[in-house]
Amino acid sequence: MPIRRLDPTTINRIAAGEVIERPAAAVKELVENALDAGARRIGVTIEGGGIGRIEVTDDGHGIPEAELKLAIERHATSKLTDEALVRIATLGFRGEALPSIGAAGRLTVTSRPAGQDSAARIVVDGGAVREVEPVAGPVGTCVTVEDLFHATPARRKFLRSAGAEAGACADAVRHLALAAPAVGFSLTIDGAASFDLPPQDRRERVAAIYGRADAEKLLEIEAVREEVALRGFISPASLTRAAARHQHMVVNGRPVRDPLLRMALRLAYRERIPAGRHPLAALWLEIPAEMLDVNVHPAKAELRFATPDAVRSLMIGAVQRALATPADLAAAPSVSMPRTSWAASSPMPRYPQAESRAARGFAEAELRGLDLPPARVAPEVLPESRPDYPLGTPIAQVFDTYILAQSGDGTLVLVDQHAAHERLTEIRLRAERDSGAIPAQALLAPSVVELPAEDIARLLGAAERLAGLGLEIEAFGPGAVLVRAVPAALAKADPAALARDVADTLAESGTATALEAKLDAVLIRMACHRSVRAGRRLAFAEMEALLRAMETTPLAQTCPHGRPTVLRLSRGDLERMFGRAG
Ligand code: ADP
Ligand code: MG
Repeated sequence: MPIRRLDPTTINRIAAGEVIERPAAAVKELVENALDAGARRIGVTIEGGGIGRIEVTDDGHGIPEAELKLAIERHATSKLTDEALVRIATLGFRGEALPSIGAAGRLTVTSRPAGQDSAARIVVDGGAVREVEPVAGPVGTCVTVEDLFHATPARRKFLRSAGAEAGACADAVRHLALAAPAVGFSLTIDGAASFDLPPQDRRERVAAIYGRADAEKLLEIEAVREEVALRGFISPASLTRAAARHQHMVVNGRPVRDPLLRMALRLAYRERIPAGRHPLAALWLEIPAEMLDVNVHPAKAELRFATPDAVRSLMIGAVQRALATPADLAAAPSVSMPRTSWAASSPMPRYPQAESRAARGFAEAELRGLDLPPARVAPEVLPESRPDYPLGTPIAQVFDTYILAQSGDGTLVLVDQHAAHERLTEIRLRAERDSGAIPAQALLAPSVVELPAEDIARLLGAAERLAGLGLEIEAFGPGAVLVRAVPAALAKADPAALARDVADTLAESGTATALEAKLDAVLIRMACHRSVRAGRRLAFAEMEALLRAMETTPLAQTCPHGRPTVLRLSRGDLERMFGRAG
């Protein structure tokens, strides 16, 4: 075949595949255009997952009638002069969004600048441009997209359910609403108002997006180094979610999902929060435009920093400083603050609660000497040491997290109480599910849980199947669900936290994971809920019960996420480590 130039419609469809990979990407581009136009209020309407219809209305400066045709042409933009590619201040700059959307679906742009008598409209359908016509309309711009991807059916095949796509659209709008708190934002999904926010400051906007209850717990961070500034709000280690979608980063006003920033956040929390959990974060980074390349990703979501190490260390430092403040120590129940430097670096040994009088006397004297709060001593009796228990007899609990036991053959056994209990709960739930359904425990007072509309849709969409897992959820007006029953095994779990985590789990994973696979993830997630947390002090009887249950449960050597639950140190291991052996 000879070389030939592609026709413009084909070029636009190829670009559409990169720029508009799903409805949420179209929503993002249209809202960014509204922000670039200086809008004070932006209204977004989504129908049928954004595949049916998207509408974005703004009160910005509008597009003059004479420029409407140009606006929908490829590489036509009012935002970039040829020299300015290094200093991009607007969100859009490539002039690709409108033509790409117009190539993939039916695009209608209706606009009226302040000085113009009436509005004008242009329609592009599958790349075919119709004439500009005058219509009635207010100052500002209204862009609608209908039947997205009807002209690119291959792309359509990769979409998830309408509910999942609507959820992704809502996530995109939330991210943009955080990026521009001074702009009023409303979102309506399938006729139901998801939110309607007035112009706000950052703190108010964060509260509106994350919910008051969580927002009150957030820690404020600020770090400025030379011309780079990072500010925002992060959750204490005690407040985490099952998914990373509650992390929002904004760089120079641009909402991004940049891998470097996400990784830095993960590193900052490492070892402070359990694996598989994610902090909440709303972070604004200001950085001189010439230190940043935004033109590396089709959807402009990833960045290239001139000094990646500096940005990374600024983030890690700021987050870790905030996490080390007393506020967070107070939130984490198990942390005490010893006064001496010796105690700060090597944790206090905890004595068995039924130790001999002499030992207790020693412990108390030692504690007094260090001027620490008095230790709690529970009048309990150590269970008798039996040589035939593979995981041995508990001797102590360390860091309120690990059970220390000694087995009959002298091996020292360390058990991660949360990981172990999580596995036992998971196995119990699985067995109950496999033998019919997981018994549900009706709540005496059903719990009202406020959630974003798309999370509600997800939960209600899976309600019947969730009931089989013992979780009974009903609609409860706009913006909330009612939890009527929880799995009996989780009777003590917080129903609101459980419902939120289940919604997160249902929302997770990019591709169309079958509901079955998701329900399996839900089951594992639920197991985590009842399981004793790291940081809870256990009575000896509880430690004993946990060890004995583990011994009779296959698979108990790892937690549901595959991490070990048990470590063993033999006498030989200890001798080697102390340099006593050979
Ligand atoms: P880009 O945003 O990269 O310039 P787009 O294809 O998204 O490219 O938009 C093309 C042009 O149309 C913009 O440069 C802008 O001049 C105009 N435009 C698009 N949407 C709006 C809007 N909501 N208000 C005012 N002008 C707009
Ligand atoms: Mg644009």
